[in-house]
Formats: sequence, structure tokens, C-alpha cells
Amino acid sequence: MSMEILTPKIRGFICTNSHSEGCAVNVKKQYAYAESQGAKLDNPLKALIIGASTGYGLSSRIALAGGYGADTLGIFYERQPDGAKTGTAGFYNSAAFNKIAKEKGLWAKSINGDAFSNEIKSQAIEMIKAEMGKIDYVIYSLASPRRIHPTTGVIHSSVLKPVGEPYSSKSIELNSEKVIDVTIQPATEEEVSNTVTVMGGDDWKLWLECLLEAGVLNDGVRTLAYSYIGPEVTWPIYRYGTIGKAKEDLEDVAQYLENKLMQNLGGHAWVSVNKAVVTQASAAIPVVPLYLSILIKVMKEKNIHEGCIEQIVRLFKTQLINNKPQLDESRRIRMDDWEMREEIQKAIADTWIQINTDNLRDLSAYDEYKKEFRNLFGFEVEGVDYSQPVEINVSL
Ligand code: NAD
Repeated sequence: MSMEILTPKIRGFICTNSHSEGCAVNVKKQYAYAESQGAKLDNPLKALIIGASTGYGLSSRIALAGGYGADTLGIFYERQPDGAKTGTAGFYNSAAFNKIAKEKGLWAKSINGDAFSNEIKSQAIEMIKAEMGKIDYVIYSLASPRRIHPTTGVIHSSVLKPVGEPYSSKSIELNSEKVIDVTIQPATEEEVSNTVTVMGGDDWKLWLECLLEAGVLNDGVRTLAYSYIGPEVTWPIYRYGTIGKAKEDLEDVAQYLENKLMQNLGGHAWVSVNKAVVTQASAAIPVVPLYLSILIKVMKEKNIHEGCIEQIVRLFKTQLINNKPQLDESRRIRMDDWEMREEIQKAIADTWIQINTDNLRDLSAYDEYKKEFRNLFGFEVEGVDYSQPVEINVSL
């Protein structure tokens, strides 16, 4: 036991501690939402979620288990608690998820380790063979700053930069809460190539090839990876930037995997383009926190605001479970449909021109963004008494 009263330790877009009880309450809320929206299936699903501890991956795990009674194996890379040092939010989220799933009578296990490695892939396959049988859904939701290549051992680091030309835009300086102008220099060719190696489709392809070869995928298996396109203001840094190049690669791999899975098992591979949401990964992208602050305000005013769980529940409910998804001209599922509505994007573009430090809180939901960011680490969660000490040494 190691009980402490905790307050958030935030530096810019990073929070270095997390609150186990706040994380557990978040997971419970997401689970309850998924349960309220799901349906009982005749043959309960079995799912492997890679990147299952936070953001879209965690919500995918919860949507499948809470909504459709799926057995889930979750893979993630999180720091466990160590003495007085808290674990990461993803560690506490996963501990909370495992507990709820077991209470509900679902099989749920997790592997905490580097999903890019051969070792973790083998461990997952062994566990699936021994305890799960065959997998119906493989969700690939990794967001990582680096990848150790499994065959060469080379460490590749991803960068969030424009390609070709410098990019200047407004952004929030999160420590001072000022709207500032930033200029980001373009990536070198090597940085582009490294970002594609980390965040492109190579590892997704390796996972599916290993799973297929091991014979642990069910007939009609479906695999999904997540992408983002977003509005024009972010294109130089996102769509046309280093991360956009990685996402193009992901889409190419989706086509490759579609052919391979269709041939072998009548299966499918899709990229789902999701909306912008507050996650640890999106907080690190320059310009995006300001865009998100405005997006939250505009979408709330129109009553169509969604966080990760609402997006993913809608994805499974309307596109996947007992359904074949509707695809765009590039074979992508478009869950960013509400975000990209013309009226939403026009309202954001109008605000973008006017916004500055003085009117930040009038023209955007910056305080809501900040709260959602703190919520990611279990802080400022409704229903939690932060004046009380909380257990740090939680186990998975
Ligand atoms: P996130 O930071 O919340 O989650 C990342 C997950 O990856 C965590 O579970 C983490 O433990 C895991 N991970 C990272 N490195 C790992 C490793 N080496 N081995 C095992 N696990 C590892 O990120 P997110 O924002 O939910 O992003 C997930 C996907 O969704 C990404 O492909 C991202 O581009 C996409 N996406 C995000 C947004 C957004 O606004 N956040 C929008 C659309 C699409």
C-alpha cells in the first residue's frame, strides 16, 4: 500500500503523474456508456487491441467489451507504479478495465510491453492460442514517438513537422496560456522516413502477417487502424506533414491487408478516419490544442460533441457490428463526418482569424480542453474527492 494525496504535475503538454481513482472513474463512465449503447450478440466476439490503454484504443476495447461482450487482449506500453511514483494513466486505466471486465464475466488480459517487438507479438500469439481461440477484430491504435525496429534494432524517432516548407500558424503556448505565432521548420528527408517507419503501416502489417501465419484469426476477421485528416488550418502540419506521410503509408497497408485477409479468410482491413479528440498524442501536435479548444466549443453548441468513447461506439454501432462499413473514394471509414461538416468548419475558420490571448476564453472552450486534458490523467474527474489519499500501487 502506498497512499498519497495527489495534484497534477503538468509541464506543457505532459502530465508526469496520474490519479488511479480518477482513471478508474473515467473507465467506469466509458464502460457504462458502451453498455448502454451495445447489443447482445449470438456469438460473442474476441478482439485484440494494440494500443489499448488510452485514447482511441482504450475506447475501442471498452466499446467491444462493454457494448458486445467481447473477450479482449490489450497490448500497451505503460509505466507501472514504483514506490511513491505513480504509474501512467494507461496503466491505471487498464487495471480498472481488467477489473470491470472480470466482474462482468468477460475474459480480459493485458500485455504491457513494446508492441513493435517480435517478443510481444509472440507472447500475444501464445496467449491467444492458449486462452482465446480465434480473433474476430484486431484494432491497431498505437501512437508512439519512437520504434525500435524488430530486425535491425535501429531506433527510429517520429517528428511532427511540415514537409517541404516552414509552416507558421497560431498556437497555444500551454504553460503561459497565450495565443502565439509559431513557425515550424520542415522535416529533413530522414525525419520523414523515420516518422513513416514509426507511425506508418509497417508494424500493423507485421502484426497481421504474424497472426495470420499462426492461424489465430477467425474467418471474416476485421482489422482497423485509425487516421486523421482534419481541416485546412492543420494540413501543413498534419495531412501534408510528416504524420500525414505516415498515414498515407497506413492507407496503402490497409489495401495490402484487405487483399491478403480477403484471400485467406474472407476478412477485411480498413482505416477509420476519426475526429480530433483530446488525447496524450494529440496534445503533442503543435496547433492542435488551439484547434481542439475551438472545435469543442463549436460542436458543443451544435450538440454533436463527441469524445473517444462516443466516436468509437458510433463506429462499431453504425459501421461494423452486423454491418459492412460505408467507405469513401479512398476506402476509408469517415467517422470525422460531423467534425468536417461545412457549418462546423466555417465557424472554426471564422474564429481562427479572430482568436488571440485576450479573447481565448470567449471564442473557444479552452478551459474545457484543459479539463479534458487533466481528465486523461485522472485529475478533475467528477465524483472523485481529491482531498483524500489515493492508492498508488495498483496492480494490473
Ligand atoms: P494515445 O496516446 O492516447 O494512445 C496510444 C496508445 O499506444 C497507448 O495505449 C500506448 O500505451 C500505446 N503505445 C505507444 N507505444 C507503444 C509501444 N511501443 N508498444 C505498445 N503500446 C504502445 O493515442 P491516440 O490519440 O488514441 O491515437 C491512437 C491512434 O488514433 C493513432 O493512430 C492516431 O493517429 C489516431 N487518431 C487520433 C486522433 C486524435 O485526435 N487523438 C484523431 C484521429 C486519429
